[in-house]
Amino acid sequence: AKRKGRNRSEFFTDTLRSSVIHTKQTADEILRGLEANEFIAYFQPQFDAHTLEISGVEALVRWDHPGKGIMPPFSFLKIAESLNVVSRLDEIVLEHALRHFQQWAKSGLDIPKVSVNISAQRLHDQNLFNRLSSLGIRPGSVCFELLESISFDEHDELLIGNIQKLKALGIDIEIDDFGTGHASIISLLKLTPRRLKIDRQLIRPILQSSTGRQLVESIIDIGQACGIEIVAEGVESMAHAALLRDLGCHHLQGYAFARPMSGADFLDFARQRNWLTEWESSQPDRLR
Ligand code: C2E
Ligand code: MG
Ligand code: MG
Ligand code: MG
Repeated sequence: AKRKGRNRSEFFTDTLRSSVIHTKQTADEILRGLEANEFIAYFQPQFDAHTLEISGVEALVRWDHPGKGIMPPFSFLKIAESLNVVSRLDEIVLEHALRHFQQWAKSGLDIPKVSVNISAQRLHDQNLFNRLSSLGIRPGSVCFELLESISFDEHDELLIGNIQKLKALGIDIEIDDFGTGHASIISLLKLTPRRLKIDRQLIRPILQSSTGRQLVESIIDIGQACGIEIVAEGVESMAHAALLRDLGCHHLQGYAFARPMSGADFLDFARQRNWLTEWESSQPDRLR
């Protein structure tokens, strides 16, 4: 038993050691990747729930790693946070998003809005506003998604002040992953966000569970009473899409329509989509 015990503790020490080594290696890799400009934005379209036209696009960070290919954020975001470089990633994604946005517009593709995720770290960055002013953002064209879990403290005057400044710059505020944090709906509404995005964990059960459906319905009702646009994320089937539309959701985003893709692929996707929508509306007999 003694031997077994020692083996077990050796096992844990080894596991801990290898996870520390992995974290250290990933951290070094992230810093190298930043220097080598390997972080890019991918784009996932959002759709008007009624017309199914593209109503916006969310930019999502990806690591275009030379050996490993395109890596999703769960593989590096936590470590990037501990390195205090999430703010830099946010900025890279915003710059990429704006650049693509302009390219799409030049190609004749008019996307109403681009959303980017913003970390608590960047929201507290006093340099943020100089950077933003220098980017020349057209009011109403950019939306910042803030996680509900960024603890919204009504007494955090710096945070509240920065949110007001963003609004003054014409940037829309959206509460992301709504329903997963611990913020009270009252404190969230005090921020007067333009949009509320319901988390996909709340979206998934709406077809099978009437309680789940009622929960989403009541969020939508509160949002509508406050004049807030409601976005649903994680819309994985057309049955979900139809129900969410009927419940009063404004925008839909999820694998049922499209996965996140590169800027070039997004241009192709959106062009085909627009062409299809135009063609369908010119064919009255084919309308659903
Ligand atoms: P999020 O902002 O809630 O983004 C939505 C996530 O759900 C994306 O994952 C997207 O690919 C995924 N998704 C979209 N539709 C579906 C669906 O129908 N089903 C399922 N199962 N998933 C779907 P992704 O790109 O891996 O991003 C994960 C999270 O990482 C984001 O969640 C966001 O919190 C964070 N993140 C991504 N990009 C950035 C960034 O540039 N800055 C910061 N600070 N955080 C970011
Ligand atoms: Mg988001
Ligand atoms: Mg989200
Ligand atoms: Mg989410």
